Amino acid sequence: MNATGRTLFTNVRVFDGTGGARFDGQVLVEDGRIATVSRGSDALSADAHRIDGGGATLMPGMVECHAHITYPNAVDRFYPHLYPPAAVETTLMTVHNALVLLDHGFTSAYSAGAIKPGIETKLREEIEAGRISGPRLRTASMEVYFPGDPDARPMPQTNDELVAFVRESKDEGVDIIKLFLSGLDNVLEQDDWEMVLSDEAVALTAREATQQGMWLSCHVRPVAGLKQALRNGFRVLYHVEEVDDEALDLMEQRKNEIFVGPTIGGIALRAEMANGETRENAKRRLVAYKETIDRIRSRGVRVVPFGDYGFPGRPHGHNARDLGYFVRYLGFTPAEALAAATKWGGEMMGRDRFGLVEPGYVADLLLVDGDPTHDVGVLEDPTRLLTIMQAGAVHKSVAAGIRGLADSHR
Ligand SMILES: [Zn+2]
Repeated sequence: MNATGRTLFTNVRVFDGTGGARFDGQVLVEDGRIATVSRGSDALSADAHRIDGGGATLMPGMVECHAHITYPNAVDRFYPHLYPPAAVETTLMTVHNALVLLDHGFTSAYSAGAIKPGIETKLREEIEAGRISGPRLRTASMEVYFPGDPDARPMPQTNDELVAFVRESKDEGVDIIKLFLSGLDNVLEQDDWEMVLSDEAVALTAREATQQGMWLSCHVRPVAGLKQALRNGFRVLYHVEEVDDEALDLMEQRKNEIFVGPTIGGIALRAEMANGETRENAKRRLVAYKETIDRIRSRGVRVVPFGDYGFPGRPHGHNARDLGYFVRYLGFTPAEALAAATKWGGEMMGRDRFGLVEPGYVADLLLVDGDPTHDVGVLEDPTRLLTIMQAGAVHKSVAAGIRGLADSHR
């Protein structure tokens, strides 16, 4: 996916990912990385392919911080069941989902769990080799078989099974072990607010994963589960609807290591689209969620958007709606939401420099028609992504006459 050669973006307003105001400038990309960023009227002279931005916004590519790329629903594919189809179809759907995400401005994705084994890691390799188009991936373990899945087999429960699961995932090439520390209504035996694993089982699994050089993520709502995660080196904490002072102290101690993904898309959709009591419940839940997230942010913890797209009603491709939800329901400014999606998402990807328009960073860039620092909603419309660049390679550029599939997804 790495490009050789040079590209010069001229006549652009740069949002560099830090959350500061846009500035007029030029950006030179060389051999897959950002080489130079000039400000104001300083013109860069380079023997390079030129893309005249026409005053559009140049910003870092977005990072889907909670991707379920194996979930079947995409903007151009409706799949009505909770369970996925058989492995072959899921594999093909997943390849397409990767293209949909890249076409919508997601140059990287951090998986929050697979629903079929083996697919994500193979896909990651194909994308890295440049044979399939999609976001750069950090891949996760199997997290759950949904009820009704024709391929379902029991997920690990005993200590021995959990350790074996970590080792098998490592052999498969997985980057992240994802665990449910609390339950999930209608999917797991344990409901939303019930704990799933004993302290001993979590500690054992976490130790094994860490020894194997893997990261840990969890689905967790109750504060007891959050503390399990924080005491055992979990890096990414999803959902997190409840905190207390002790949990906040633990978070603050590890604030440079951890990320919190509230994953509010489902609740926000119900607050906006549902009727009656369902809608009122969702609204109340969002108000409480904001209080929790305010307390977490006040401790300096990185809170990241996106997640749980791929369901009916929330297909892959609608992910950028989360930016608006962060602004409307969690009190982020548009620039803060964008910084969370780029700078912090890039830090979450790790292993290299992603998510900023600064020299030395991997050249994952979006040229956007409009000002997302004023209205994050422009990023929901893929036709406003004039250029999508990944590691210096142009995936789509209206100016260069190259198109992804985004326009046909609409
Ligand atoms: Zn999820």
